[in-house]
Amino acid sequence: MRTSTVVSSNGYNILIDATPELRLQCIKNNIRRLDALLITHSHADHIFGLDDIRRFNIIQRMDIPIFSNSKMLQTIQKVFSYALDNEPYPAGFKPQFSLNTISDNLKIGDLSITPVEAMHRNEQVLGYRIGKLAYLTDVSKIPSDSMEKLKNLDVLVLGALRYTPHVKHFSVEQALSVVKQLKPQKTFFVHMCHDIEHETGNCRLPQGVKFAFDGLTIEI
Ligand SMILES: [Zn+2]
Ligand SMILES: [Zn+2]
Repeated sequence: MRTSTVVSSNGYNILIDATPELRLQCIKNNIRRLDALLITHSHADHIFGLDDIRRFNIIQRMDIPIFSNSKMLQTIQKVFSYALDNEPYPAGFKPQFSLNTISDNLKIGDLSITPVEAMHRNEQVLGYRIGKLAYLTDVSKIPSDSMEKLKNLDVLVLGALRYTPHVKHFSVEQALSVVKQLKPQKTFFVHMCHDIEHETGNCRLPQGVKFAFDGLTIEI
């Protein structure tokens, strides 16, 4: 399935990105509550699942706050205009969310979230640092001030598309050079394409680095 994750702490669940398979991912992984959504960027494979949060609106009886930068939020507003118009609908007929610009540190429950700016070729996207975890998916360059924010990590989740270069994504080699600089305790690569065979690929990675898989759970 496409790449997303849930970060849980003391009953709070934060979803990073809403893939087109969000509904299936939530069912499969028994996700029963969403307290906030962090969006890395507004490409289809990261936001097209937003309609599925309707079910959480009914269960939780609340709007779900979405956080991202203002450009991403504008795209969400366009794509999901039906959800944000003022037409009165019965509860659950459309997703209910609020759009919030994230610029600095954000606190949700006991989780402290720092946005980390990165480049997806010519587009500025966001990664997120949550305590000792950082999550950066579709990225082709991490500026030096963002690299500073990624020091002393227990777990780095980083996009690595394939072995051959790609203009918008880190290749495995480029992602490994970021790992070499940041030296996190553990790294999981995500957003791989079909060029990477999971088991043989994992054998070729250095110690502490693995390709992630659907349903992977990490405790920090
Ligand atoms: Zn993507
Ligand atoms: Zn993308």
